Amino acid sequence: VIRIEQMNKWYGDFHVLRDIDLTVRRGERIVICGPSGSGKSTTIRCINRLEEHQTGRIVVDGIELTNDVKHIETVRREVGMVFQHFNLFPHLTVLENCVLAPIWVRKEPRKLAEQRAMALLERVKIPEQAQKYPGQLSGGQQQRVAIARSLCMQPKIMLFDEPTSALDPEMIKEVLDTMISLAEEGMTMICVTHEMGFAKTVADRVIFMDQGQIVEENAPAEFFTNPQNDRTKLFLSQIL
Ligand code: ATP
Ligand code: MG
Repeated sequence: VIRIEQMNKWYGDFHVLRDIDLTVRRGERIVICGPSGSGKSTTIRCINRLEEHQTGRIVVDGIELTNDVKHIETVRREVGMVFQHFNLFPHLTVLENCVLAPIWVRKEPRKLAEQRAMALLERVKIPEQAQKYPGQLSGGQQQRVAIARSLCMQPKIMLFDEPTSALDPEMIKEVLDTMISLAEEGMTMICVTHEMGFAKTVADRVIFMDQGQIVEENAPAEFFTNPQNDRTKLFLSQIL
């Protein structure tokens, strides 16, 4: 459902992504890890065109990402994204955060959008928070709202960029549990995370990036027990 071929990206003179090749099948769960600055965020942000690549191809659900605004809009509707810092609208209630895009982008009737939003808040286990504002919620609750809000657009693919790294330890589990249940329901997911427990239990493949390249890629059992590359070994020795 995602095909990236020989993607390269520069920020000015800085060659941030080098010859990235990545194919993701429908229902697959991919974890991307690697040192800070290795290009993990940039890679997944290219998939919904929050960043632009310069050479190579990205095809999402049969649509090639070019400068065609129509194509970009279509792809963004199919690809949900959850960030490290939630990015909720602070002046809107939880429910309003969830229904905004379905009503304005998908032109859904408010009633339908609200019903789905409530069902999804139910699913991330915080329906009782619907009328509160983001600032009145814990970090873990806010991140679950962000996940529910993404799901309200009925995406085919979900991208997660370190969704738990801004959370206190006791809140990490509730967000990971939400992600695990999403994975169990068959969602196609690409998760940038250093939660190696999550990677071991949920990922079909783990990808290790360093200095803008995919250095190693393997099933988690192999990746963690038998890393091939010296840079992967060094990285794992530092975080495990
Ligand atoms: P982290 O684990 O810290 O989130 P990352 O692997 O996600 O790191 P990226 O955010 O993808 O790394 O950044 C890759 C490199 O590109 C870094 O060296 C960063 O400084 C640089 N970079 C990121 N955004 C920009 C930008 N807008 N302009 C110039 N350089 C940038
Ligand atoms: Mg990042």
